[in-house]
Amino acid sequence: MLKTLNLFKLKIQMTSNIEIHSKVIESMRQFAENYAKSTNTYFCVDLDVTESVIQGLSKNKQLFGAPLCPCRYYDNKEDEISLAYWNCPCVPMRERKECHCMLFLTPENEFSSTKQVFQTE
Ligand code: SF4
Repeated sequence: MLKTLNLFKLKIQMTSNIEIHSKVIESMRQFAENYAKSTNTYFCVDLDVTESVIQGLSKNKQLFGAPLCPCRYYDNKEDEISLAYWNCPCVPMRERKECHCMLFLTPENEFSSTKQVFQTE
């Protein structure tokens, strides 16, 4: 489990080398909390994963104006945003509660915590 989560965090962090405005991060954090509560989903037991995904979403929101999923490769992010399929919450999440980023986990997922609130210390 730890190896899986560490590889995942590394993948997200590789895309997060710009400074993101704190207001954008705060807005994405609030979105994540509200969406988790409204869908009965929970954050990961390893909150570093949650933080990494929120930062990745914030980065895309700041750079491209939309919270494009940070866990995928895109040839062209602007084109992908206009399709809206992978704008968070993406279609797989909205239709089937499938979040491959592990931001929103159903209670039965082995990586799920009982938290729907995210606070950095
Ligand atoms: Fe958001 Fe979907 Fe990416 Fe999960 S997989 S962070 S719901 S866009």
